[in-house]
Amino acid sequence: MKHIKIRTRTFLQGGIHPPENKSVTYEHSIENLPLPKKAIIPLSQHLGKPALPVVKKGDTVSEGQLIGKKDGNYSSHVHSSITGKVTDIGPYYTASNVKSNCIVIQLEGEIKRMNADKPDWSNLSREQILQRISEAGVVGMGGAAFPTDVKLNVPSDKKVDFFIVNGAECEPYLTCDYRLMMEKPEEIVEGIQIIKKLLNVKKVFFGVELNKRPALEHIAEHLREKDNIELIALKVKYPQGGEKQLIKAILNKEVPSGGLPFDVGAVVSNVATINAVRDAVLFQKPVIERVVTVTGRIVKNPGNYKIRIGTPLSDVIADTGLTEEPAKIILGGPMMGPSVVSLDTPVTKGTSGILFLSEKEEKRVRYNAYRSCIHCAKCLMVCPVSLNPCMLSLQGEFETYDQMTRYDIMDCIECGCCNYVCPSFRPIVQFIKLGKSFLKKKG
Ligand code: SF4
Ligand code: SF4
Repeated sequence: MKHIKIRTRTFLQGGIHPPENKSVTYEHSIENLPLPKKAIIPLSQHLGKPALPVVKKGDTVSEGQLIGKKDGNYSSHVHSSITGKVTDIGPYYTASNVKSNCIVIQLEGEIKRMNADKPDWSNLSREQILQRISEAGVVGMGGAAFPTDVKLNVPSDKKVDFFIVNGAECEPYLTCDYRLMMEKPEEIVEGIQIIKKLLNVKKVFFGVELNKRPALEHIAEHLREKDNIELIALKVKYPQGGEKQLIKAILNKEVPSGGLPFDVGAVVSNVATINAVRDAVLFQKPVIERVVTVTGRIVKNPGNYKIRIGTPLSDVIADTGLTEEPAKIILGGPMMGPSVVSLDTPVTKGTSGILFLSEKEEKRVRYNAYRSCIHCAKCLMVCPVSLNPCMLSLQGEFETYDQMTRYDIMDCIECGCCNYVCPSFRPIVQFIKLGKSFLKKKG
């Protein structure tokens, strides 16, 4: 295969091989889910401060209209995903399971389609490209939700040599990035060219895990010699899609503790984000929808659906159907995704999947009867960033959060590998999250 170097690389330290469960939706092409009757659009769908509402109750808004203005450097704009009337602005449950301010829009009126002409972007300056990405409210769609205009605006004292495309999609069950690579290869390659111009990098690597080999071959068919993009087949190992693990696998470089990919001359973006960048720059299209894997053995019509931002889970269930009451609903993949408590919880820019687990499946991942640590060291063996999860969990259990800094708690990527192998079913990541939130509050 031209353009592919089958060097099957991976990161060396830690990692696990959970059951993939991707076959549930692997062959399902992207379909549109019907518009929601009511969209609950969070003002905080990104790192940084929530956006500030620029509409009020009773206003009529159109699809794509700005409804929340970014507030500060790490914030991001929020747009209406449907045409309708603003019926409420207030706190609702969101993906983080806390109530945060949302703008509720009732669907009504006529939908005016956005301009679909394909303009030439090659004459746009770097500043104009960044401006369009910012105005469209693009954030990392792999789950991190870091504002993309900030990520691609490299500080002048940092030199970036490599852009890495993250097509690993290592979380079990998820196939939305795989389907994008299968169905939108030209768009992704065009997005890469835009980012290449922004970063002025000498080399682009495109990493895809080997369990998505058809995507590797399909992308290769759409590459030209002058694109200078090298496809890398990655060994299947979780969390291969973590930024630091991908950089280690592809560049054999270690991002220092507390550092960022910039520090080793790299920027990483996932394929869904790159596709959104392309739509933002070419069509000035804001992020009002995304592809979401709706999956689980109890879903009647599992698949990869294009869903409007703000669509409540109750609407998703009504459209895709369930064979039984779910015991647990997870937003994202089972390793890192939070479980949700309300069916009003909306799809956001960072929602890559919705996983419905039955009573039988959920029992396997229940932590409410965890036991004492037996110091087996299994968690140390699988931690991809060489932490001591055992000690972190003990500090968390005894609420000695201050001590957790001694064990580099902030380097934890919350991958869940330690939870997965612990024979005492200890909720190690949950202890770590508690510790992080305590330390962040303390400043
Ligand atoms: S895997 Fe669990 S029981 Fe074993 S050392 Fe780690 S925390 Fe303790
Ligand atoms: S969740 Fe944190 S401590 Fe546990 S394995 Fe992942 S990086 Fe290591």
